[in-house]
Amino acid sequence: MIIVLTPHASDQQVEEVKRHVIDLGYDPRVIRGVERTIIGAVGDELSHRSLEMLKGLPMVENVLPIQKRYKLASREFHAVSSVVHIGRHAIGQGQFQMLAGPCSIESREQLREATRDLVAAGVRVIRAGAYKPRTSPYDFQGLGEKGLELLAEVKHDFDVAVVTEVVGSPHVQRVAAVADLLQIGARNCQNYHLLEVVADAGKPVLLKRGMASTIEEWLSAAEYLLVHGCPGVILCERGIRTFETATRNTLDVGAVAVAKQESHLPVIVDPSHAAGTHRLILPLAKAGVAAGADGLIIEAHPDPVNALSDAAQQLPTADFASVMAELRPLIEICGKHMA
Ligand code: PEP
Ligand code: MN
Repeated sequence: MIIVLTPHASDQQVEEVKRHVIDLGYDPRVIRGVERTIIGAVGDELSHRSLEMLKGLPMVENVLPIQKRYKLASREFHAVSSVVHIGRHAIGQGQFQMLAGPCSIESREQLREATRDLVAAGVRVIRAGAYKPRTSPYDFQGLGEKGLELLAEVKHDFDVAVVTEVVGSPHVQRVAAVADLLQIGARNCQNYHLLEVVADAGKPVLLKRGMASTIEEWLSAAEYLLVHGCPGVILCERGIRTFETATRNTLDVGAVAVAKQESHLPVIVDPSHAAGTHRLILPLAKAGVAAGADGLIIEAHPDPVNALSDAAQQLPTADFASVMAELRPLIEICGKHMA
C-alpha cells in the first residue's frame, strides 16, 4: 500500500503515521518530496490487517493498493489456465463447452423433450432451474425439490451433466446431491455467506457476474469460493445494468477479455440474459466466443412461447443443432475445440 500524506505534513505527523503502519504489522518506508511525503507500507496486504483505516487520519490524503485483492483467482498466482470438470466433461485449456437448457424446469415432459433435442444437437451439459430467483414474488418460482428429482432423472436417463442454481444455503446439500455444477446467480454474486456454504459442498461452481459488480468484485467473489475450498470455479459474464434499454442487460464483452487476462479460471458467456430476446442470442454468443470465452450457456425450451419464465429469450430446442453448426467454425478459428 502507498499512503499519501497531505501537502506539508509535519515531521511529527509523519512519525505518527509510521507508528500506525508498524502497529498494523507493516514496515514503513518514507519518501519525502518537496511538497509531499508518501509512505510505502511493506508487507503482505492479503494476510495483514487493512491499511484503509489510515484514511481516517487528518494528515492522510489517500491510501492506494498496489496488490490485487484476489490471489487464488489471479493469473499472477497461477499462470496456466485451469481446467474445470463438469461431471465427465472438461472446460478450459482449449476445451469448449456448450451448456444449454430451459430457464426453469416446468414438467417431466418439458425437461425430457428439451434434453432429447439438445443431446441430439451435441450438448453434454444441461442447464435447468429448479429454484428460480424471480424479480416479482408473483412469478413462477420453480418446482423446487420436485424439479431436482426431474433433473436427477434426465441426468441418469440421458447420461448428461447438469447445472442448476442454488438460491439459498438451506438448499445447498440437496442441489449438490444432483448437480455436477452449482450455479450462483447474478443476484447472489456478492452473497458471501452463500458463497462460503456453496464452496464447501465439494462441487465446482458457475459464478455469474452480478448485474452491478465490477470485474474486481466478481473476481473477489471467485476468491471467496476458492479460499473456502471450492474445487473449481467457472466465471460467467451475463450482461450488466447500464442506461441502455434495447437489450435486457449490456453484454460486457470487454470483461470477458479482462477476466481471461486477470484470471486463470475458465470464462463463459450467457448471451440469453444479456439479450433478453431470442433474436440477439447468436450475435452475442459469437461476440463472446471471439472475446475468448471457453464456453456458452444458452437458454433453450421446446416451446419458448409458452415458457413459464424468460419466454422471450429462449431458443427452440428443435433448432439447436443449427445453432451449434453456426458456432462451431468460429469456436475452432478461436483455437478451441468443442467435444
Ligand atoms: C438464469 O440463469 O436463469 C438466471 C436467473 O440468470 P441470472 O442470475 O444471470 O439472472
Ligand atoms: Mn432465465
